[in-house]
Amino acid sequence: MDFNEDDFKNAAEKIANFIVEYDSILKSCPVSNPVKPGDLYNALDAKLPTSGEKSIDILIDKVRKEISPRMVHWSHPQNSAWFPNVSPKILALGAMLENTLNCVGFSWSSSPALTELEQKVMDWLVDIYGLPGHFKFSSKGAGGGCFQGTAGEAVLNACLAARGRFLATHDVDPRKLVAYCSDQAHCSCSRAAQISLMQVRRVETNDQAEMTGELLIKQMEKDVAEGYFPAFVAVTLGTTGLCAFDDLKSIVDVLENQFPSVWIHVDSAYTGPMFVLEENRHYLAGVEKVDSFNTNLSKMGIGGFDSSPMWVKNRFDLTNNFVENPDYLRSHENEINDENVFQVNFRDWTLAFGRKFRAIRVWLAMEWFGVEGIKEHVKNHIRLAEEFEALILQNPKYFELVKERSFGLVCFRLKGGNNEDHDDFVRRAKTQFGLIVTSACWKDRTYLRATFNDFASTSDDVLKVFRKFMDLALHKASLCAWILEFKAVTSLLACRLSKDSSRASEVKARYKTNVAEWM
Ligand code: PLP
Repeated sequence: MDFNEDDFKNAAEKIANFIVEYDSILKSCPVSNPVKPGDLYNALDAKLPTSGEKSIDILIDKVRKEISPRMVHWSHPQNSAWFPNVSPKILALGAMLENTLNCVGFSWSSSPALTELEQKVMDWLVDIYGLPGHFKFSSKGAGGGCFQGTAGEAVLNACLAARGRFLATHDVDPRKLVAYCSDQAHCSCSRAAQISLMQVRRVETNDQAEMTGELLIKQMEKDVAEGYFPAFVAVTLGTTGLCAFDDLKSIVDVLENQFPSVWIHVDSAYTGPMFVLEENRHYLAGVEKVDSFNTNLSKMGIGGFDSSPMWVKNRFDLTNNFVENPDYLRSHENEINDENVFQVNFRDWTLAFGRKFRAIRVWLAMEWFGVEGIKEHVKNHIRLAEEFEALILQNPKYFELVKERSFGLVCFRLKGGNNEDHDDFVRRAKTQFGLIVTSACWKDRTYLRATFNDFASTSDDVLKVFRKFMDLALHKASLCAWILEFKAVTSLLACRLSKDSSRASEVKARYKTNVAEWM
């Protein structure tokens, strides 16, 4: 039923060829083709694949003709939406290894190599990102880390752990526990709090979109006065909308003094890998006091999707929530000695019982790039954003920055545009150019975001995207000019009819349009 050796090599080569071909497909198609819901579903055969299709060529052709044209191409060189989902080719090879060295790592005994490679990779990442040494297994303390599937899973785990730890030491009404995050935090933080049956407070941020210790404490004190119990806070280093940084140092300091039982989780989904560059590490001040820290290797961490490393200061805070010792594991469980530094059972660190060999994929990528390669990647990503930011600044008639560029993210607005103009820009970017533009809202004003994936994009792509944005802005600008001229003409006609010459000069001075000059 499965491939024989030669057929497998042949088929793998064809898939490899398609992987290479996909890059050239991307160069000649938009980021997003127009698709309607149901397009792909209806295009695929209604009948089940009963006898099986053994021609890999036919199957690849289906991908090429039916599936790929209906995608939003995240790896397109001109995709500037969301945050990058980087996918260097080494990950394609890593995914092959991940599937080949097929195992399920619910315990050390079920998968010793998986468990220990994951520990090794986690320890490496601590050093690569400059995180506290107590997160490492090699520190032989209580700290450690493992992969969660996503940042959302990580914050949920942290929240559940916070609840468990708080209730173990405080005999209070569990309905009165409160979780905090900033009003800029990713929705997964408030979702995690709700799933953990906690109250949620989205703390108002300052004029830099940051949550500070002072703002947080103000909200906590108000809650305490009303009979609630602060139990969890998610601090974001690099928010999704603006890539703003909560003031971690002031938060940990103030909590240590006033609310030492609160679990502090850091969500650094996008920015974690940027800490490979030492000059960025000032944002980490205070990190040695946090309970857990998470980043995503899919965004900038070159490790691919579903690999979100999460470290905890005290693993027992986490595992106490999840430990179960089912009878069917007894004969192959901690048989060497008690669970210890290296003989850990990762099923107790997550909601999922099993885990795949993600660590082999990430390990391969780390070995392949090395620390220098990882630094280079982060620098290139930031450089592309700098180029885009420069283009925005060179065109102040059409665009303005919302906030200074933060790492690889540029947030900007159309000069003089209102919220509807920005929504219209997003719509036209998609219909006219097949470009996805993400917009968000800060202080009730819509803004646009752009960020580039350096494995796919070049400076030329940045320029091409900017030119398209310029076309879209010019359309709006010419519409505005037309409206202004229309207003000028009607006002001047009204002045003429009323023979009010001083008002006419006022109108001319105010509108400064060609038509006003001409009248
Ligand atoms: N946190 C932040 C700051 C994010 O930007 C995102 C997604 O962009 C998330 C969490 C959610 O990530 P995930 O899909 O890994 O749950």
